[in-house]
Amino acid sequence: MTFETSQNLLTVDVEDWFHILDSSAVPPLERWEELESRVAANVERILAMLDHKGVKGTFFWLGWVAQRHKSLVRACHAAGHEIASHGHDHVLAYQVGERKFLDDIVRAKAMLEDILGQSVKGFRAPGFGITEGAEWAFDVIKRAGYNYDSSVFPATRGHGGLADAQRGPHWIETQEGRLAEIPQSVVSLANRRFSLFGGGYLRLAPLPLIRWGIRRLRRSGQPLVIYIHPREVDPAQPRLALGYKRSFKCYVNLESTLPKLETLFNIGRFMRMDEYAKAFFGEDLQAA
Ligand SMILES: [Zn+2]
Repeated sequence: MTFETSQNLLTVDVEDWFHILDSSAVPPLERWEELESRVAANVERILAMLDHKGVKGTFFWLGWVAQRHKSLVRACHAAGHEIASHGHDHVLAYQVGERKFLDDIVRAKAMLEDILGQSVKGFRAPGFGITEGAEWAFDVIKRAGYNYDSSVFPATRGHGGLADAQRGPHWIETQEGRLAEIPQSVVSLANRRFSLFGGGYLRLAPLPLIRWGIRRLRRSGQPLVIYIHPREVDPAQPRLALGYKRSFKCYVNLESTLPKLETLFNIGRFMRMDEYAKAFFGEDLQAA
């Protein structure tokens, strides 16, 4: 039997309201501890909705957050969701360089494995932050021992983004061997690629447009990969002074996220990313 490659995958990048990249309005790591933490309540809200809809997903936990919410990591895992890694300190690969990036993602993996007592397979870079010229990050991800990666955003975006990367799951050749990649889904129209399935795009796009995008993904045999952050289900979160454009993107339509997802979950079964990777890449994934 052949594997139907058009599947639905929900992913959550688990971080708090102040884990926004690349803005001087965002407090530095040394100050995070003093800030109000809202992530646990928001993750619980998402877990309750997923339970209600019978959806299993993949949660890319930031190590810094996981360390402070160990029982919630375990509860998330016990509910049937995959626990994967989003690095430890939410650093951009191309800003911190190879050595620091490696240390950060090794640390996050070890911490999550320690919390769970089992291996963590998946990784997603903060901000989909692997840009042209920083492809060494894939070598590092492989070296850190991850089994698959979901850091590629195959379109242009504020930070991160590999505009010409292959769409749909594929192998990336690294210095350490092949790395299985499941990129964020983007649709292409009139030679432009854009996302409708995560972050501000998901909150702004009307449902008929999102459904149109999903049909296009289906036709090309690609999985639908949705991504959200816990802060996106929290209209009452404190606002950072991000400037007009970033503020709009970060804070628009926050009240729409959960109802929109609930509707989208009716399109069919959702699977975890590790299960998809196993089915798509087959035996080669173990051997890689
Ligand atoms: Zn992030």
